[in-house]
Amino acid sequence: MSSFAYQSPWMNDALQLWRSQVAKFVQREFVPQQQRWRQQQRPDRSAWALAGATGMLLPDIAAEYGGGGGTFAHECVVQEELARAGVHFGSNIQSIVAHYIAAYGNEAQKHTWLPRMARGELIGAIAITEPDAGSDIKGMRISARRDDGNYVINGTKTFITNGCHANLLCVAVKTGAGAGPKSISLIIVETGDLPGYRTGSSLDKIGMHGQDTCELFFDEVRVPAENLLGGAEGCGFAQMLEQLPYERLGVGVVAVATAEQAVAITTRYVKERSAFGEHLIDFQNTRFRLAECATEAHIGRVFLDDCIERFIARRLDDVTTAMVKYWLTDCQCRIVDKCVQLHGGYGYMAEYPIARMWADSRVQRIYAGTNEIMKELIAWSM
Ligand SMILES: Cc1cc2nc3c(=O)[nH]c(=O)nc-3n(C[C@H](O)[C@H](O)[C@H](O)COP(=O)(O)OP(=O)(O)OC[C@H]3O[C@@H](n4cnc5c(N)ncnc54)[C@H](O)[C@@H]3O)c2cc1C
Repeated sequence: MSSFAYQSPWMNDALQLWRSQVAKFVQREFVPQQQRWRQQQRPDRSAWALAGATGMLLPDIAAEYGGGGGTFAHECVVQEELARAGVHFGSNIQSIVAHYIAAYGNEAQKHTWLPRMARGELIGAIAITEPDAGSDIKGMRISARRDDGNYVINGTKTFITNGCHANLLCVAVKTGAGAGPKSISLIIVETGDLPGYRTGSSLDKIGMHGQDTCELFFDEVRVPAENLLGGAEGCGFAQMLEQLPYERLGVGVVAVATAEQAVAITTRYVKERSAFGEHLIDFQNTRFRLAECATEAHIGRVFLDDCIERFIARRLDDVTTAMVKYWLTDCQCRIVDKCVQLHGGYGYMAEYPIARMWADSRVQRIYAGTNEIMKELIAWSM
């Protein structure tokens, strides 16, 4: 049986229908806009409402809060179809923020924010990283001090996905002194016309040019104290540890979908392109490289599918999630790099999807916890 005949065990007829709806929507509404999104370094603001109207936002949040009422499998389908189409739209981050609110928000907070996020009226961003604190989360400096019924936030966040468009931030702040985990809290910030809040210009990345990434600045920004997530100060670090697996598994989903797509487009390319009077596929080296890529992508797929099923069944542990994030993103970069080589000089031209895929893939090994940090997490458990 060809590896391409394999079907994920979590797939079913309803999810297939969902996949075809999402794929059609992405091809119709997003793909034609890609060049412009890359030039303007962010998706159109209007894309969010369109995505909301198709049910593509918050597919795995309960229907009573405006979500799709599905499982992580529904979110996977969305992320896979976006990855296959080469579209960088921050709906994954929207889901991550929604899951923080769903897990730690009170009923009033959930009803206030989640339905508007599902409609694309509120665009979420998760703001953890600072210029001097990335892997070392506890080294963050941004402060939130209590003042009457408010928190007053001062500091800077950087590399924030959805940053320019975002009007609902989940911000990791210091509410306590010292560097201990109990000094960190998560606060939800609605940014619309908020005095003291501003975003920097879009960051000039080497890939993912259509993705909205920027710095956020807080200068005496006042937020109602009830926007604290979880009802008590000092829970932020533990909340992040609980939610990061969702984000990391999502990175793995994109990794495998991208690797599979790279193999598919390269297979087509080497069957069409000729050199020395033969198609590239007729060279043994081409066939061997493609065979290696297809095998690695399939190993990745089977590992990922097992983790998706375990996650849906609430049986996925943090160590395996770290393995998924590290191994699948390394695997993605290896495969895409080999596929670039098989394209020759065209593989280095930005107009070719494989070239963009190569540049876009690199950051997968860096964000959501670097792959070195993932290996530390795995090694600590041994
Ligand atoms: C395109 C993009 C989008 C992003 N989106 C977001 C977002 O939406 N929200 C957000 O909060 N952040 C976001 N990030 C930030 C991202 O999560 C951080 O860049 C990442 O966590 C690494 O932190 P750093 O850049 O400070 O690198 P550093 O922590 O300075 O790491 C530098 C190097 O040192 C290594 N290193 C550090 N500590 C150790 C250690 N203990 N052992 C071994 N090696 C170590 C790292 O692995 C890395 O190789 C994004 C980043 C990018 C590039």
